[in-house]
Amino acid sequence: MEGKQKNIVVVGASFAGILQSHCIMKHVIPKFPSHHLVLINPSPDFFWVVGAPRAAIDDKMVPDEKVFLKIADGFKQYSSDRYTLITGTATGIDTEQRIVQYRTEKGIEEVPYHALLLATGGKTPSPLFSPFPSTEQTREAMRVFREALPQARSIVIGGGGACAVEIGGEIGDFLNTAARRFAATPTNLKAKITLVTKGTKLLPTLSTAAATQAEKYLNRVGANVVYGRKVIETVPQNAGRTIETLVAIKGEKVKIHLDDGEVLEADIFIPAFHGKPSTSYVPQHLLTDTNHIKTNPSTLRVDDAGPRVFAIGECSSAFGGASMHIVDQTKVITTNLKRDLRAFVDGKERPDTGRDRIYEQYTKPSQFVPIGRSKGVGQLFGWWLPSWVVWILKGRTYMVGITHWYTAGDMVKKEDVWKYE
Ligand SMILES: Cc1cc2nc3c(=O)[nH]c(=O)nc-3n(C[C@H](O)[C@H](O)[C@H](O)COP(=O)(O)OP(=O)(O)OC[C@H]3O[C@@H](n4cnc5c(N)ncnc54)[C@H](O)[C@@H]3O)c2cc1C
Repeated sequence: MEGKQKNIVVVGASFAGILQSHCIMKHVIPKFPSHHLVLINPSPDFFWVVGAPRAAIDDKMVPDEKVFLKIADGFKQYSSDRYTLITGTATGIDTEQRIVQYRTEKGIEEVPYHALLLATGGKTPSPLFSPFPSTEQTREAMRVFREALPQARSIVIGGGGACAVEIGGEIGDFLNTAARRFAATPTNLKAKITLVTKGTKLLPTLSTAAATQAEKYLNRVGANVVYGRKVIETVPQNAGRTIETLVAIKGEKVKIHLDDGEVLEADIFIPAFHGKPSTSYVPQHLLTDTNHIKTNPSTLRVDDAGPRVFAIGECSSAFGGASMHIVDQTKVITTNLKRDLRAFVDGKERPDTGRDRIYEQYTKPSQFVPIGRSKGVGQLFGWWLPSWVVWILKGRTYMVGITHWYTAGDMVKKEDVWKYE
C-alpha cells in the first residue's frame, strides 16, 4: 500500500483515534499530497461509550443507532483516494521495518507506515462499556443485560468512579424511583442496589462535596454505598466480565467475596472498575509497567519507536483520563506530525524544521456525572456545577446529540494553528 504513497497509519477509532484521524484528513492530508491515511479498528462502528450507562438499561431511552455510529459515514466528506478504513485488530508492530500487522476476517495482513499513531485505549472489565474486542459484542452484551434487568432484585456494582455511579443511578431510577428534589430515601424497593468501593469517597476526580452529594442522590434511587472494601473474587469466576456471566445463570445468585470476608449475593454483578490498556500488540520495550505506551509527556511521541510515532488517549502514558484531554492532545500531535513530515525530505530527516509544540495537561477537575434521569453532580475546570446544569449538559440525553463532533470531526473542523508553526 505504500510505494510512493506515504501512509499515516492510525490504530484504534474511538474518541482519540477518530478525532486524530479527522484532524489529519482536514489539516494534514491536504498539505501533503503523497500522504494517505489508513485507519485500523476492530469494528466498522464507533461506540459512544458516554451514553452506555443509560443505553445499557433500555434501548427506548437511548436507541442503539445513537450510540453505535458507522465510522465510514463520517469519512464520506473526504476524497476516497486519500484514506483507507480497515476493519481489523492490530496484532503487532515492527518498528525496524515500520510495519503494522493486523488480523481481519481474511487472516493476518500488514501495512507499512511512514507515520504511526497509536490510539487503542483500554478495555473495561464489563463488556457493556467497551468497544473492544468488537462493538458486535457490546451490542449483544446490552441485549442480554436489558432482557434480564427488569427481573433483577439485587444488583452489586464494583467501583466508585463515574461509571459505577452512573450505572447505579440509572438502574435505581429505572427499577426503583427517580432522585427528585424532596424525595425521601425510598422504602419499598423493587431492587436492592449496592456499590462497593475500596475508596473512602465516591468519584475520586471530584471534590468531597460533590461525592457526598452523589451518595445522597444514589440513596434516593435506592442505591447504597459500601466504602473501604475490595471485591476479591466472584462465584462464578469472572462474573459480569463476559456475556455468559453478565447475569446470574439459571437463577443461581452471583457470590461477591469482599476482602473483609463478607460475601454479598446478587442477581447481577457489574464490575465497573477501571479498564486495562489495550496494548498487547505493542512490543514490550515500548510499554510501562502498567502496560501503557511509553509516551513523551511533552511532545506525545513514542521516542523509543523511531521517528514519527505518537500515542494518544487512554493507551498513552501521557493521558489524563478525560476526553477533553484527547482534544488537547490532537492539537499537539497534529502540529508535531506536520513538523515531522516536513522534516523528512528525499528519504532523510532534517532536524531543523522548527520547534515542537508542547503538551500541557489541564489538571483542574472536570467531570459531569448524571445520577438517574433527573439529578447529577459535576465540576467544570474545578468549579462546582449545580445538579440542573449537569442534567442539561449530560443527564438529559447523555450527549447523543454531539456525537458528530467526533464521528465527523466537527470538533476539529477549524485548524488550531500554533503560533510558532
Ligand atoms: C461508561 C463510561 C462513560 C464515560 N463517560 C465519559 C464522559 O462523559 N466524559 C469523558 O471525558 N470521558 C468519559 N469516559 C472515559 C472515556 O470513554 C475514555 O477516556 C475514552 O473512551 C478514551 O478514548 P480512547 O480512544 O483513548 O480509547 P477507547 O475508547 O478505549 O478506544 C480504543 C479504540 O481502539 C480499538 N482497539 C483496541 N485494541 C485494538 C487493536 N489491537 N487494534 C485496533 N484497534 C484496537 C478499540 O476497539 C477502540 O475502538 C467514560 C468511560 C466509560 C467506560
